[in-house]
Amino acid sequence: MGHYINPEVDYSDVVFYKLRCLPKDPSAMNNKVHVDETEPTGLEEPPFECRDVVIKKDKWVTGEYDVKDVMLGRGKFGEVKKCTEKKSGRMLAAKFIEMNGPQDKKEILNEVEIMKHLQHPRLLQLYDAFEKKNCVCLVLELISGGELFERVINDDFILTEKACVMFLRQICEGVSFMHSQNILHLDMKPENILCLSREGNRIKIIDFGLARKYNPKEDLRVLFGTPEFVAPEVINFDPISTASDMWSVGVITYVLLSGLSPFMGDSECETLSNVTSATWDFNAEEFDSISNEAKDFISKLLLKDKRKRMSANDCLEHQWLRRSLKREGHLPERSLSKKRLKKFVYRRKWQKAINAMLALRRMGVSLT
Ligand code: ATP
Repeated sequence: MGHYINPEVDYSDVVFYKLRCLPKDPSAMNNKVHVDETEPTGLEEPPFECRDVVIKKDKWVTGEYDVKDVMLGRGKFGEVKKCTEKKSGRMLAAKFIEMNGPQDKKEILNEVEIMKHLQHPRLLQLYDAFEKKNCVCLVLELISGGELFERVINDDFILTEKACVMFLRQICEGVSFMHSQNILHLDMKPENILCLSREGNRIKIIDFGLARKYNPKEDLRVLFGTPEFVAPEVINFDPISTASDMWSVGVITYVLLSGLSPFMGDSECETLSNVTSATWDFNAEEFDSISNEAKDFISKLLLKDKRKRMSANDCLEHQWLRRSLKREGHLPERSLSKKRLKKFVYRRKWQKAINAMLALRRMGVSLT
């Protein structure tokens, strides 16, 4: 672990609206309070010491951890609950994954192997792992701030371009590290970006279930991902690369700034076809107030030709992300409308619930 906070970035500049700072009469401030969220700068402590995790097969998670009933989330492959390590009292998260056959097992071993290579403060850290019959439990760093997009649509959060820049900078830092390790995430989407805490502005990229080791000299093709966020080369079953994650970063940026999903169609088929044709624009009125630098940033990611897309490092050098640096001027601080973004988040939540229900049904779990 090293210097993961860019010392040049003024992280304290980001404006949040904190309830505890509300004046007695909020109307006196037009219901908006701009408060500097002062985060410690300089060295960022890792959540725990570096660990060489080996999957334990001779014992189960409940021997060493108290698993709480508090559900943190549910995904296609199982559920995530809060837990506490008995010997240290450390609060963590336990992700339970059902295995239905050798392919599932291979995928989970892949997830563990990948996570072991990804020790970085912008990426979710693995703490421990257990295997029992057809179930695996991954003990993970606890991320308690919830999904980034849910956080920003909250009424107590003022969404500005400046805030978007700060989140995008951290996302690119995490992706850049992943790519430096020759690992592709392949499921970059808003649900996989969590906030470390409810008040702070640090984020973490989670869910390495679809991540793959990548050798630039070999062709790698996959046929999975989330239609709205997946790159055209994935859908076409063409060779993929680090640029495939960068396409998704472009989609995430587009949605965060406007609440609009650039490739969303009336059906999954239409969405996939919109992605492969790579036609999109900034015509919606939501983009009227967005800076040209932001639009340029997106335009250099949502390119059909993956060789022309910016890398994560290019993104960090892009003028839009660099404008968050103090000495290079200030970004627009007017608040962006969240109406569309709220609709987007509710629709995705609904979709996720349906997917989780279908996955349970596939596993033979009765829902009645
Ligand atoms: P998906 O259906 O998105 O592929 P999955 O089965 O791979 O999901 P995850 O995405 O890893 O599972 O986790 C499901 C949800 O649980 C996440 O969206 C998140 O809300 C929550 N979650 C996962 N890991 C953590 C964590 N370490 N701390 C807190 N919440 C977590």
